[in-house]
Amino acid sequence: MRMRELSERHIECPYCGESIGVLVDPSVPQQDYIEDCQVCCRPINFYIEIEPDGHANVRVKSENE
Ligand SMILES: [Zn+2]
Repeated sequence: MRMRELSERHIECPYCGESIGVLVDPSVPQQDYIEDCQVCCRPINFYIEIEPDGHANVRVKSENE
């Protein structure tokens, strides 16, 4: 059985373009939340889908998209 643990993904901030590490909880199959960029402090919308094999699809959008 596969371990379901937090996995770290890297995304690009839609505002400043910096690479940001986010921790994804694979036990929740669909997630969306807002978290401030660690670099420019602007709010990033995260949309996360966990595939059946546990792979996390992480998409980010800026507030205005
Ligand atoms: Zn940023």
